[in-house]
Amino acid sequence: MEKGEELYSGKAKSVYKTADPDKLVLFFRNDTSAFDGEKIEQLDRKGEVNNKFNAFIMQKLAQAGIPTHFEEISSSQESVVKKLEMLPIECVVRNIAAGSICKRLGIEEGIDINPPTFEFFLKDDARHDPMINEFHIRSFGWANDEQIKEMQRLTFKVNDVLKKLFLDAGMLLVDYKLEFGDFKGQLLLGDEFTPDGCRLWDAETRKKLDKDRFRQGLGGVVEAYEEVAHRLGVKLD
Ligand code: C5P
Repeated sequence: MEKGEELYSGKAKSVYKTADPDKLVLFFRNDTSAFDGEKIEQLDRKGEVNNKFNAFIMQKLAQAGIPTHFEEISSSQESVVKKLEMLPIECVVRNIAAGSICKRLGIEEGIDINPPTFEFFLKDDARHDPMINEFHIRSFGWANDEQIKEMQRLTFKVNDVLKKLFLDAGMLLVDYKLEFGDFKGQLLLGDEFTPDGCRLWDAETRKKLDKDRFRQGLGGVVEAYEEVAHRLGVKLD
């Protein structure tokens, strides 16, 4: 599908209109950002790896009954998706403590979180994506009751599917962030699922295989993403 006018450019992806008003093209750029866009670098091959990785995961989720916006890959760095009305909310599930929960609550990195915990954040870089709760979401109209329940249900369902998928490939799904949007009255999973938006550790050594390599200046960022893709059997060719 041909892409038309650019609709929006995010930190790692650009979004284009298409001839079909219900469809968009996502272009996965090589840009990698952290700390609300304060640190940005171009990493060779990242756009292509993430596009193919995202397609693989979205298809696995769809097979497991999770409705997503994903339609098809249209070039090495592009995919066609349904055009959603995105909710300005990030849904995070954590299986193991890492990142902001350690800083916020003084939890030691690496401990199991049992049962897995759920957090909402407001998508607002200028305010560093503050944590919010269901009452904020209702009071300020960011989503309705039904959408809140459905985001929680689907985000936990994704956990059941992906924890197993990664563990079978020797990796621990530490945490991840999902975004949802409305498509003609139905809530669909939008955005992306790539190592840019989740934490993955090697199950034996606990080596970090995700964007923390970039955030923490550990190096080998794209090599780690390729390793994750390779272990899952994602074709990168
Ligand atoms: O930073 P924090 O620990 O809250 O992040 C939890 C998870 O959500 C991590 O996997 C992180 O990569 C992801 N995340 C994201 N985009 C954000 C904030 C967090 O993908 N804006």
